[in-house]
Amino acid sequence: MTNIILFGPPGSGKGTQAKFLAERFGLLHVSTGDLFRYEMGNNTPLGQEAKSYIEKGELVPDSVTIGMLKNKLDANPDVKGVIFDGFPRTIAQAAALDELLAASSAEVDGIISLEVEEAEIVQRLLLRGKDSGRADDQDESIIRNRISVYHKETAPVFNFYDAKGKGHKIDGMGTIEDIAARLNTTVSAL
Ligand code: UDP
Ligand code: MG
Repeated sequence: MTNIILFGPPGSGKGTQAKFLAERFGLLHVSTGDLFRYEMGNNTPLGQEAKSYIEKGELVPDSVTIGMLKNKLDANPDVKGVIFDGFPRTIAQAAALDELLAASSAEVDGIISLEVEEAEIVQRLLLRGKDSGRADDQDESIIRNRISVYHKETAPVFNFYDAKGKGHKIDGMGTIEDIAARLNTTVSAL
C-alpha cells in the first residue's frame, strides 16, 4: 500500500489536489471533513455531534473521528493505498492511524505539506464560502479559530512524521495545475 497524508492549513488546497492524486495514482481519497458533511447532510447522530464542533471551528473529538475513519478503511479493504485529506489533525489521531495501518502491515509513506500564506488562505476560504455555502467558510472569526486550532493542535503532526524522515513540503501558492505538477513529482518519488 502507498499511504499519503496531504497536509496543510484549512484552504491550502488539500481537497482539490487530493482528488487529482487519487485519480492519477489509483488511491482512495479519504476526507474526514467530507465524511462529516455527509453525516450532517443526513442528520445522523454522528452528524449532529460533529456539527456542534464544526460550526465553532473546533475539532471533533478524536474518538469520534478515529472511529469514523476506521469504518471507512474497513469498508475498503482492497485499496492500493489511501490519500488522507484533513486527517490526522492531532498527534493522538496520528498514533491511532499508525496503529490501524500497522494491523494491515502498512504505514504512512509520506506526509506532504502544502505551504500557503495566511492572508491567501483567508481569501480562499471566504471565496469558497460564497460558492459552496459552507457555514464554517462564511464567518471570518470561525476561519481564524480554525487556523489557530491548526497551528496549536495540527501543525505538530507534520513534525511527528518528519522526525521519521517522512516529511515533504510543497509550495502551495500558484495555479492549481502548477501545484498538481509539484505534487506528482513528490508522490512519484515516494
Ligand atoms: N473536522 C474535524 N476533524 C477532521 C476533519 C474535520 O474536526 O478530521 C472538522 C473541523 O471542525 C474542521 C471542519 O470539520 O474545521 C472542516 O474540515 P475540512 O477538513 O473539511 O476543512 P478544511 O480544513 O479542508 O477547510
Ligand atoms: Mg478540505
